[in-house]
Amino acid sequence: MHFSFITLFPSLIEGYFSDSIMKRALDSGMISIDFCNPRDFTLDKHKKVDAPMVGGGAGMLLTPQPLVDAIRNEKRKCGDAHTILLTPVGKKFTHNDAVRLSKKAHIILVSGRYEGVDERVIESQIDEVFSIGDFILSGGELASLVLCDAIARNVKGVLGNEESLKEESFEEHLLEAPAFSKPDNFEDKSIISEFLKGNHSKITALKRELSLRKTQYFRPDLYKKVDKRHKNEK
Ligand code: SAM
Repeated sequence: MHFSFITLFPSLIEGYFSDSIMKRALDSGMISIDFCNPRDFTLDKHKKVDAPMVGGGAGMLLTPQPLVDAIRNEKRKCGDAHTILLTPVGKKFTHNDAVRLSKKAHIILVSGRYEGVDERVIESQIDEVFSIGDFILSGGELASLVLCDAIARNVKGVLGNEESLKEESFEEHLLEAPAFSKPDNFEDKSIISEFLKGNHSKITALKRELSLRKTQYFRPDLYKKVDKRHKNEK
């Protein structure tokens, strides 16, 4: 799967791929990435990519020409691209989106800067707009990385152990149950005793129950979506 990052600041993104899971995914060829800087496409002799908003408003906006040419350049390179703009006014990105988008061959992630992008870029080039939460970042680079990481984890082979995907939060709208490692006792706090007894069916049932209660308490919005059958499991 290929990810194209369209950004004025590729160095903000590059470092994330220099270690851990994303580096292994790159090295093994499970994913590939490239960067495209709209500044390289500007026809302005001063290499400007932004301008004041027409009709007033504080701050500068990314102008359409360099951005559209950069996006077209990436679309030409790989073909069959799905183009996403990161913006606080997009729909909120979820686990389901990550799973769905992991089936695409090529995703272009467009990072805004300053006050954002000219609306005509969205109309002509963008397939989906995503926000990563109700807050404002200084640019779309972090948000692009968030999407790339969440999507890539669902690409077959990226995680060493595919089983860990099944037990993660948001599967079946549930948050993950509390988890423990060694030692059995840490600073006078012990592990839930049932977890130490080795009866796997009992542990699974208890984890399920804790997962339901945790979701109900922390995320009542998700809990509403949990299948009734699971709520009545014992
Ligand atoms: N003026 C914009 C507004 O009020 O909606 C905010 C622009 S923000 C300072 C600059 C860029 O950061 C955006 O174009 C977008 O690419 C990115 N960004 C900021 N917050 C974001 C969020 N919550 N989710 C996704 N992208 C975000």
